[in-house]
Amino acid sequence: MALSEAEVARYARQIILPGFAPVTQEFFRAARIHVVGAGEVAGPALLYLATAGIGNLFVDDGLDVAPEDCAAWLYGADQVGQPRLFSAIEALRAATAFSKARPYATGADPTAALVCTGSLGTAREAAERARLAGIPHVVAMVDGDGGQVVAVPPGAPCYSCGSVPGSGAPARPGAAAALGSLGALELLQILAGVVAAPGGRRIDLVLGQARARATARVPGCACGLGRAI
Ligand SMILES: [Zn+2]
Repeated sequence: MALSEAEVARYARQIILPGFAPVTQEFFRAARIHVVGAGEVAGPALLYLATAGIGNLFVDDGLDVAPEDCAAWLYGADQVGQPRLFSAIEALRAATAFSKARPYATGADPTAALVCTGSLGTAREAAERARLAGIPHVVAMVDGDGGQVVAVPPGAPCYSCGSVPGSGAPARPGAAAALGSLGALELLQILAGVVAAPGGRRIDLVLGQARARATARVPGCACGLGRAI
């Protein structure tokens, strides 16, 4: 279905970007993105995806709003103690009527995934699930005042191959917002087909400077054969 007048007006400045077109926006509208996490990295990412016109967002989070989550752009101090899942969905619905946010559930059948959890184990698990499902996915992991974003288009080296160990330093709010926004942008570029590195890449954010490099498969990793790692 073609874009409505309201949608063209809403996304006019995005549609004119190089590599974007009304058909890209229609593709965004039909997309179903599984977003893992609803904390300080996921908050800016969810808002970015919703306001960019992603039609369906599946929010996946089981924690309550903590005081430090109020830096996540989605929550007010009065929401501390409430489930992040429902508070995030409420904030996204308030941000735009063009994107439907709902809880992730089994059988949701996402077409892409954005992993923004602070847990490395959960991130690896979510990335592996997305890879085996054959859908593009991006993992944003904050590390102190920087972090890394790993983009895994179908067939690219897996997240475990493409990521590097972090320092384990606690996340800084500014870094979390930057990583979440970078992660969302990276996934939007993959969906729009305007990726700089179709074979996958990692963006390292260090001291405010972002550097991208192509990822490489660790020799012997089962991802090269399309098998579970
Ligand atoms: Zn691998």
